[in-house]
Amino acid sequence: MEIMAFVTMGPMLKRAQAARYGIAAFNMIDYNSARSIIEGAADLQAPIIVQVSVKTIKHWGYKPIATWVRMMAEDVDVPVALHLDHCSDADVIRRCIDAGWSSVMFDGSSLPFAENKARSEEIYAMTEAAGVGLEAEIGAIGGVEDDKFVAEDSAILADYDECLAFVKNMPNLAVFAPAIGTAHGFYKGQPKIAYGLLEKITAAIPIPIALHGGTGLSQEQFDRCIAAGCAKVNISTMHKHRFIEGFIAVRTEKPKLEEPLPFITGQYEAMKKDVLDMIRAFGSAGKAAHAAGREG
Ligand SMILES: [Zn+2]
Repeated sequence: MEIMAFVTMGPMLKRAQAARYGIAAFNMIDYNSARSIIEGAADLQAPIIVQVSVKTIKHWGYKPIATWVRMMAEDVDVPVALHLDHCSDADVIRRCIDAGWSSVMFDGSSLPFAENKARSEEIYAMTEAAGVGLEAEIGAIGGVEDDKFVAEDSAILADYDECLAFVKNMPNLAVFAPAIGTAHGFYKGQPKIAYGLLEKITAAIPIPIALHGGTGLSQEQFDRCIAAGCAKVNISTMHKHRFIEGFIAVRTEKPKLEEPLPFITGQYEAMKKDVLDMIRAFGSAGKAAHAAGREG
């Protein structure tokens, strides 16, 4: 069966939420990293989201990233979405859309509520016109994301009533990211996830939820969040860690090696192993056809 490979993430996230599995969203770093993410998903017949931070886009440029991901997506038969992670700059969002991203995130969570809502709605109009999916956030997810730092204990949970008001004029939002107590980076203490709030939001709002700060959560925490409606699960920190450690491990094992390609391969294998583990943990292995709408 052939599954259209390059997709926008909204429809597949809706299907994932309805069937209660999570689609992994990995933050790619370079070509090798994107390959480990997409080929890992293909190995397990899983839908996948390749997301990119603004920093990474500024490093490589818009066109190379869009070209790599779209080209790799053509060679696999699983749905692949290319997503822009946390971005507060409308110009960067515009450029991603023009370069071929299939979804983008507008992060106005540092703005006062009314301003975040108004700006998110403006971006929503832009993405709807372009046929691109949008992710929007409220509350404050803890930790470091690009140059933004929110102390874990001062992270602010999304307010339920504000959640309802926030999404009201954005019915076709691809995914909604209310802060529910998770944080970016490695957790220093036990994350306190507000499951009750998450369940309340899911019951009232028919939009898939994004779980940010997936690195370091336990299988039980993933299971509970996914069962409560999180359909997009973000993994960035662990992927970065594998990128660096996978490369270094080859040097440690073979100190005299002078060929560069085995280093790239070692790095690829380390990243891909984590991709496989996470896809299995989120229950999306074997779900490619389901996510693409090719089976009930
Ligand atoms: Zn995030």
